[in-house]
Amino acid sequence: MRDLASDLRHCAINTATLGFREPIEVVIDAVARAGFGAIAPWRREIEGHDVKTIARRIREAGLAVTGYCRSTYIPATDRAGFAANIESNRRAIDDAAVLGARSFVLVVGGLPTGSKDISAARAQVVEGTALLLEYGQSRGIRIALEPLHPVYTADRSCVSLLSEALDICDRIEGCTEVPWLGICLDAYHVWWDPNLKHDIARASKRIFGFHVCDWLVPTQDVLNDRGMMGDGIIDLREIRSLVEEAGYDGFVEAEIFSTLDWWKRPMGETLAVCRERFANAT
Ligand code: ZN
Repeated sequence: MRDLASDLRHCAINTATLGFREPIEVVIDAVARAGFGAIAPWRREIEGHDVKTIARRIREAGLAVTGYCRSTYIPATDRAGFAANIESNRRAIDDAAVLGARSFVLVVGGLPTGSKDISAARAQVVEGTALLLEYGQSRGIRIALEPLHPVYTADRSCVSLLSEALDICDRIEGCTEVPWLGICLDAYHVWWDPNLKHDIARASKRIFGFHVCDWLVPTQDVLNDRGMMGDGIIDLREIRSLVEEAGYDGFVEAEIFSTLDWWKRPMGETLAVCRERFANAT
């Protein structure tokens, strides 16, 4: 296992961790100053801005870009809506390419408004993912499916299990030495899965990203009450060891949605605690 305590360059900060309170330029400088190796920006911080200038700023700060977050939800009530969602994602992939991101993160979406047909939603996800894989390849951007905890199935992701995401990868891309379609493994979403060990080994080269935070007990809000690494019940070190045994050598990325706690603290404090917890609790 890699020693995160001695080399913070393996660690990344997803900008969601800092609560989207400062302009991206300020965030880039703070993350670089704190010694991290990479950053994961969100579209809300990039779109409508000069993407090339932001990309240069990230490069000059010495940071890599992990996964660009994140997709427009794919399932729609009609074909025009589906096409619009795909088009929106293609434009985001264009930006991911300018940023030099290692992948584009797909949070696939749940049921379209008014629908109770989860099978149809899942079928749209497979169709849309295949289209985005093709487009991503043409732009040099890998596509990372992020399965979300089943509590979000209705409104955020009808892909819940790591095994489901891997089945989609296999179905679309088949067996390949150098995959362009893979997964982003977020410990918060998959820690409870009884097949996790088996499925992480199965994922192997398809692991394009690895997100960490912690599951607090009790959790006050399943969306925005994520814990700092070490403050909850996820065995993050065990999951990281499985991920690294599977061959993953990319960044370990802190992604903490926390309106109740960390988003109220000064950015420098959150980054300092992240650094300490990467070393001692991840
Ligand atoms: Zn995540």
